[in-house]
Amino acid sequence: MAALSRDRGIVLRTHDHAETDRIAVLLTPRGRLDLLAKGARRLEGSAGALLDPLHVLDVIYYRRRGLPLLKEAAFVQTFPQVRGDLDRAAAALRALRWAADLFPSGSSDERPYLLTLESLAALERGLSPLLFTAAYTLRALALAGHGPYLTGCVRCGGGNGLTWVPERGGFLCAPCGGSGASVSPRLARTLDALARLPLDALELLQAPDEDLRQGIALLEEFRRAQVGR
Ligand SMILES: [Zn+2]
Repeated sequence: MAALSRDRGIVLRTHDHAETDRIAVLLTPRGRLDLLAKGARRLEGSAGALLDPLHVLDVIYYRRRGLPLLKEAAFVQTFPQVRGDLDRAAAALRALRWAADLFPSGSSDERPYLLTLESLAALERGLSPLLFTAAYTLRALALAGHGPYLTGCVRCGGGNGLTWVPERGGFLCAPCGGSGASVSPRLARTLDALARLPLDALELLQAPDEDLRQGIALLEEFRRAQVGR
């Protein structure tokens, strides 16, 4: 008799499997959990939508050889405000893709789950998509052990003439050999604050959108250099 397990998780993504099945990738307090949902592509209406990304579900599943088999799922949270807004939905789905890439399964660290849930809840309450994306990206990288050093040059700690050198882990100043994209002191301070402030205080930053867009692009580059995807 296979062992029955229960968990709660955020659906990060799903993909079709065989003719009628679906594989759902969840982020739970115990890390990433991939579940096989037999016949899920035949379901219609709300049952068919259960496994859509962004839903928080309570799941019951069988552990067995190969992928665990989903037996039951029930909605816990659906984030209607995020789903109903194109910009917020796009930002959320982007964050979920990062989570699927960065966080492993079988973890005893519940912080990635809590970070993702709390960030989505802030987005649902009205946090701007740019602030959400920049803050989530920074925090997710840090939890995955790839957080950039943001309080100055990675070699000397200085704060003048900083350039972005992802393969070195953050900023390098010109005297230390920094030759990457130059980063304004204002953007450097903004990134540092985004990594530290409570989510509900981020709007107080009043960071210009152009800074946030540039910051997000720098962090994408950082992930490619540090994580390799
Ligand atoms: Zn330096």
